[in-house]
Amino acid sequence: MEKRVYNFNAGPAILPEVVLKKAQEDLFIYPGTGMSVMEMSHRSKSFDKIINDTTANLRKLLNIPDNYHILYLQGGATLGFSLVPLNLMPPTFKADYIISGAWSKKAAKEAKRVGDVNIAASTENENFSRLPKQDELKLSSDAAYVHYTSNNTIYGTEYKTEPEVGNVPLVCDASSDILHKFIDVTKYAMIYAGAQKNIGPSGVTLYIIRDDMLERSSSDLHTYLNLATHASKNSLYNTPNTYGIYIMGLIFEHLLENGGLDAMYKHNLQKAELLYNYIDSSDGFYKGTVTEKEDRSLMNVTFRCLNEDLEKKLISEATENGFVGIKGHRDVGGLRASIYNAFPLEGVEKFVKFLQKFKENN
Ligand SMILES: *Cc1c(COP(=O)(O)O)cnc(C)c1O
Repeated sequence: MEKRVYNFNAGPAILPEVVLKKAQEDLFIYPGTGMSVMEMSHRSKSFDKIINDTTANLRKLLNIPDNYHILYLQGGATLGFSLVPLNLMPPTFKADYIISGAWSKKAAKEAKRVGDVNIAASTENENFSRLPKQDELKLSSDAAYVHYTSNNTIYGTEYKTEPEVGNVPLVCDASSDILHKFIDVTKYAMIYAGAQKNIGPSGVTLYIIRDDMLERSSSDLHTYLNLATHASKNSLYNTPNTYGIYIMGLIFEHLLENGGLDAMYKHNLQKAELLYNYIDSSDGFYKGTVTEKEDRSLMNVTFRCLNEDLEKKLISEATENGFVGIKGHRDVGGLRASIYNAFPLEGVEKFVKFLQKFKENN
């Protein structure tokens, strides 16, 4: 068999090996059914169990109370950018957006098609190299909600705690750091996340939404665009990404079996510290792109090397050595090591050694 590489891709991204192997084992025949999960009716008893177990395990992991619905939809977080304002902006049609990167900008752009968007803060003129600070936020008291992005996949910044927004419902795009640690879901009115960075394959988007938010959705909305539709049908109004939900379920189970989200967080901290500490101690040969250290992401480590020629060389040598996907996003340049939940500590250790050697040779 061919060897697996160390996969630093930003998304779709690395998945836990044990989950892939389990899926492989059951790919041909899912126990007790005589068929693959891919061939199963989404209305069958077997799939009902898969989706309900997936939800139950997610509730356990995040301690999600009963007054929240969990939905599995399609369209990525990108459709979420539209579903959030379409469903949650009524009746006032005013919302606050914190702009900390390209994804929150895109979210705000869609919201503007629905109602008034107040940009509560933006760090765009600093090329999103840090997060807006709490005292920079200009929040409106009559906003239908405040929207923010918990982890900026492209710029390598991540909120360590939620922005404080008083009594206004908080909505979060958590696509690239959901389940990297335990969070208090009750602080949120809604969390949504494309699965393909930290919790599954592409093609399924997770929504965690508080019941009172669903009451805002107008019955005039197109049926699929109405979140209340999906909540009332347990995400089975139409055919969902059944296989994607199944893989998410395996990942949630895997997290529970390995100490839950506190253990996951420790693992993530350890990996990120190892890499950032090395970058900071490299006498400027490598340099983190985030200007405020406390804003650094545990998921996407963005950094530069002395000059662009060396960066090109580094990317090419890294690939030859089995470290794949470290080219930075074109908006930032340089390098980006995405070290999501499933990325092993040993891979970061080896990558740091590789960076050391590259520095010595250049
Ligand atoms: C990747 C990403 C998106 C876009 O996700 P799609 O599933 O491609 O629509 C949105 N927000 C964040 C924070 C992301 O990292």
